[in-house]
Amino acid sequence: MASIIQRGSPAYEEARIGRVFNHRRPKRYPRAVVEAATLDDIMKTVQLAKIEGCSISIRSGGHSWAAWSVRDDAILLDLGKYQFMELNESKTIAKVSPSITGNMLNGFLVTKGKMFAGGHCPDVAVGGFLLQGGMGWNCAHWGWACEKVKAIDVVTSEGNILHCDENENQELLWAARGAGPGFPAIVTAFYLELRDSFKAVKSSTFVWPISEYAKVMDWTIKVSQESDDSIEGVAVAMFPPGSTEMAITSHFVTFQQTEEAAIASLSHIDNSRPPGAIKPIIEVPCVPTSLRKEYEDQAAANPHKHRYRCDNAYIENNANVTEVLREAFTTLPHGTKAFTLWFSMAPASRREMPDMALSMQSDHYFAIYCVWEDEKDDERCNAWVSTVMAKVERHSVGAYLGDSDFQVRRTRFWGEKQGKRLMELRRKWDPEGRICGYLDEGDRSGTAGLENIHEWQRKL
Ligand SMILES: Cc1cc2nc3c(=O)[nH]c(=O)nc-3n(C[C@H](O)[C@H](O)[C@H](O)COP(=O)(O)OP(=O)(O)OC[C@H]3O[C@@H](n4cnc5c(N)ncnc54)[C@H](O)[C@@H]3O)c2cc1C
Repeated sequence: MASIIQRGSPAYEEARIGRVFNHRRPKRYPRAVVEAATLDDIMKTVQLAKIEGCSISIRSGGHSWAAWSVRDDAILLDLGKYQFMELNESKTIAKVSPSITGNMLNGFLVTKGKMFAGGHCPDVAVGGFLLQGGMGWNCAHWGWACEKVKAIDVVTSEGNILHCDENENQELLWAARGAGPGFPAIVTAFYLELRDSFKAVKSSTFVWPISEYAKVMDWTIKVSQESDDSIEGVAVAMFPPGSTEMAITSHFVTFQQTEEAAIASLSHIDNSRPPGAIKPIIEVPCVPTSLRKEYEDQAAANPHKHRYRCDNAYIENNANVTEVLREAFTTLPHGTKAFTLWFSMAPASRREMPDMALSMQSDHYFAIYCVWEDEKDDERCNAWVSTVMAKVERHSVGAYLGDSDFQVRRTRFWGEKQGKRLMELRRKWDPEGRICGYLDEGDRSGTAGLENIHEWQRKL
């Protein structure tokens, strides 16, 4: 059996939170932590929880902003030491354990000429990421990462091993693509469809003064949505390192197979500018980049050992997005490393989605990442995020699980039909609530799950 670290033992605190990314530490205390290294360890953990009559929380990479893996009185099953990556003979499918990170996976795949469009940050593990849907590289054109999950292996809440694909146990595969932390079993392997890696990855970056926010935002939205299907476009507001003046950055990455194709793709953006001849502070058009370089930039924007509060919204397609996001983009709290982003989700957002739990999206993804170091700033930073979100949410159709905290704000995360089916499947596959589900206020949601409604509308 794997090491079991009981509450009260010297190794407990490190096992409880040492692998949690967010340094705003939860005051929740599992009764024990199991560091599983084998499938047998995982099965025995389920048996142990049954004997103890307690629930199991699961950690793959520990990157849930709200530290969903840390739950009062549960057994925390930490899968960090349960690691494997395998490629099938035709190099089309990778079988990976949930604790493998995007960086590890692509580091392995690049040597085989392959890629998986995982999370933008190198250390995010596929476990939590894929269950939530997975907003991976260029998902506005390539779709959600979970659409590439062709099968999973699970250990059920009863301790049985199952393979789930289109032919057997389909409903668990359906749920695994979008249930997030409410998935009613333990995923032990994902089977991922791969794409060929790209030989020419290039980026164009423009940093503008925040005083030109409206023109820059309108332009970034327009050119992103006019781009060809190789381009990912994003607008980010932040304080550039060492500066007390905010700026807004428009960043575009193209994934192509040849230099010529990459240059041609970006030329549409590079030859265009926001109206009014405004001057960027920095302009770096059409330079070579790579997944590794983009990972490094993402890691720098999301530093370790910091305190985070995040939230997000899918903005209605017919909203005046620039005006809805004005406060979020122009009032970042001073003295912090906070940033806000707008991310194009179109045209994938206009397709009929595959039949899966994930069922919420719009053309416009907006997220706040409030990042600070000192506990004394907790109140100020939390208040800022709440104030901004209270206004933005009124123009939203729902939110993405991956950047949400249900203890603070609940809204719609799935289409009506899909949300209802998901909660039914939770009760069917885990009737006793053995697997910790959605961490809402007081951790009360249990087998009922989330209501999947705009709670702010109810309060109006
Ligand atoms: C710096 C940073 C960057 C990010 N960038 C992106 C991004 O680009 N795109 C995006 O979509 N998201 C992104 N996210 C959000 C991220 O996808 C989620 O936080 C996700 O939960 C992380 O997965 P994890 O396995 O590391 O987290 P964990 O905290 O280990 O897992 C979160 C929860 O998922 C469930 N879970 C995890 N593994 C299993 C399993 N094997 N079986 C059953 N349930 C399981 C559990 O409820 C668990 O508590 C980012 C997060 C961070 C911190």
